[in-house]
Amino acid sequence: FAPWNDPAAVPLIRYENVSKRFGEFTAVDNLSLDIYEREFFALLGPSGCGKTTLMRMLAGFEDPTEGRITLGGQDLVGMPPYKRQTNMMFQSYALFPHMSVWDNIAFGLKQDRMEKGSIAARVEEMLKLVKLEKFAKRKPHQLSGGQRQRVALARSLAKRPKVLLLDEPLGALDKKLREETQFELMDIQMQLGMTFLIVTHDQEEAMTVADRIAVMDHGKLIQVAPPAVIYEQPNSRYVADFVGDVNILEAKVEAIAPGNVSLYTSVGGGAKLSIAQNVEAKPGDTAFVAIRPEKVRVDLDPPAWQEANCLRGEVWDIGYLGDLSIYHVELEGGTRIKAAKPNLTRMVERPITWEDKVWVSWTPDSGVVLTR
Ligand code: ATP
Repeated sequence: FAPWNDPAAVPLIRYENVSKRFGEFTAVDNLSLDIYEREFFALLGPSGCGKTTLMRMLAGFEDPTEGRITLGGQDLVGMPPYKRQTNMMFQSYALFPHMSVWDNIAFGLKQDRMEKGSIAARVEEMLKLVKLEKFAKRKPHQLSGGQRQRVALARSLAKRPKVLLLDEPLGALDKKLREETQFELMDIQMQLGMTFLIVTHDQEEAMTVADRIAVMDHGKLIQVAPPAVIYEQPNSRYVADFVGDVNILEAKVEAIAPGNVSLYTSVGGGAKLSIAQNVEAKPGDTAFVAIRPEKVRVDLDPPAWQEANCLRGEVWDIGYLGDLSIYHVELEGGTRIKAAKPNLTRMVERPITWEDKVWVSWTPDSGVVLTR
């Protein structure tokens, strides 16, 4: 499933040169984005980057200052929210407390004057979808947090919108329940074959649920790509840093060859770096090498088989996380680097310990050179 790579695919949602200003302040800055049918799309970014505003313009709670938004080819700007084929799921505290689960789900359908028999059929279908058939008569306060969340979901899906909008939908749930609910959301989205657009500042949530992620900063899209591309091939220090843990080393470009960049860094005893990548840069340019902690090796002896990407340092801390241990190594010159090592066997003694002189290293295909 990758319609975004298919030049013939027609997007369901199109933002074209959309800007939104509140007075002097630009919340969304000349942004263009296509989202496809059946896609689970995540808007990810820190607080204030404009992701909620971007979503609210699709729902019709805000109109853009400039630009065009279309859904299935139809221009949305100026159309009131209730006429749009979008629906926003609100957090569970927006349920009607005095109404049963059944009535909460039926509410929008009754407002639309749907015929009684059809309402009953649709509510039953929704109850089944969210696995709450046995809870139809209960009131929201007689349900757990996770169950209430599922009622809210059923209610927002009952009218069969073309796009479901989810604004930090799982923020109120604890970690375990949040993870379970993420998988339920994915399952329901697949079953219905609908387009879901989620706003989150939680990178793990975005990585788990989404087909594609847009990473935003100051009203602009920095990178739009599937989770694995965002993680493995971030296009900037901003994205590398926002998604997951990363080590970033400043270096100077020495030479460029097809599929390879050689660099030189002054830290770690002064070392040659080599990264398997095509980069637009020239010798002498400053660049940044980003390496994920799980791709960094720590050894007491220099790994003899490797010519580049070996730096000297000293272990100044080891963080035990159960599944992993994080080795914090201070390189000669002061830069610190993290290496994550899975704890595969029960550790009786640590082979590498505090204040050990070590070598950190990584293979040329596990780092990324970033020029911005
Ligand atoms: P959060 O996760 O905190 O909601 P966000 O990325 O969703 O952040 P938005 O809610 O889209 O960010 O807001 C982007 C910026 O626009 C913020 O600086 C916010 O203060 C501003 N903003 C949003 N709505 C309004 C408004 N109605 N009037 C003035 N400024 C607004």
